[in-house]
Amino acid sequence: MTFDLKKTIAQHLDSLARSGVETIATGRGRFELEWDLKQSDESSIEYSTKRSAKPDGVGENKVAMRPGSPSSDLQKPTSGSSATQPPVLSISTVDPYGASLSESDRKSQLQILQNEVAECTCCQQLVASRTQTVFGVGNITPKLVFLGEGPGADEDRLGEPFVGAAGKLLDKIMAASKIKRSDVYILNTVKCRPPANRNPTPAELNNCWGFAQRQLEILQPEFICCLGSVAAKRLLNTTQPLGRLRQRFHQYRASRVLVTYHPAYLLRTESAKRHVWEDMKMLMKEMGVDLG
Ligand code: SF4
Repeated sequence: MTFDLKKTIAQHLDSLARSGVETIATGRGRFELEWDLKQSDESSIEYSTKRSAKPDGVGENKVAMRPGSPSSDLQKPTSGSSATQPPVLSISTVDPYGASLSESDRKSQLQILQNEVAECTCCQQLVASRTQTVFGVGNITPKLVFLGEGPGADEDRLGEPFVGAAGKLLDKIMAASKIKRSDVYILNTVKCRPPANRNPTPAELNNCWGFAQRQLEILQPEFICCLGSVAAKRLLNTTQPLGRLRQRFHQYRASRVLVTYHPAYLLRTESAKRHVWEDMKMLMKEMGVDLG
């Protein structure tokens, strides 16, 4: 097995587990996929695959990994194993994002993930009302990623994030900040439109968060700008209000994070625009962009 194939399998298991898959059917039987968060920052996750039935009297097979990990060792099963059993794949890393992926690896892994999202049926109410899933779009080797909340009506219709009125305002914010839309990647915290543009429920956020996490692991941005409190609270795993999260940098794995208001909020609250401009100036300064 080549290194890339091992890595791809591990990342695929990661996506499956995070998106709620519990059992994998294979030609060698059915496997239960279990995962446990080992740290509060979710940077270390252990997976185990266990046969539902044990036709050969064989015990558990473990896949221990940290998402996006570059280094791995293929090992023989440690106990109760036979030559016919799948090998144990043990992966570890000290880098919170792992090694940088090539552009072609990013492209193929994002496509695999996008296909998984398109087939996802975890949130019954959203599945019943969505036109399509809205995965994310943009530069796949970005310095900056914008993380929003969820698709609105225009995004649901067109399949792309931030294309409605809020998206046009985001375009203006980027232009004023000397950022080209083609240089950044834009994604949402949930991939299906909540009916009547309500906030995603905690269950929907939990269901979908694994997809955004995998996108960020693949994209490995230097900076993440959270648009609105839903994205900020989920990414930073906090309950603090947005007003206390903005105007300072946070850390999410290897990315520096700045929080600001969602453009949809600015459409309703003109006075918040100056706060967003303050936040963007802070972000651009840190990114080394000269606003003149
Ligand atoms: Fe699946 Fe996310 Fe859509 Fe829920 S919101 S159905 S988890 S893709």
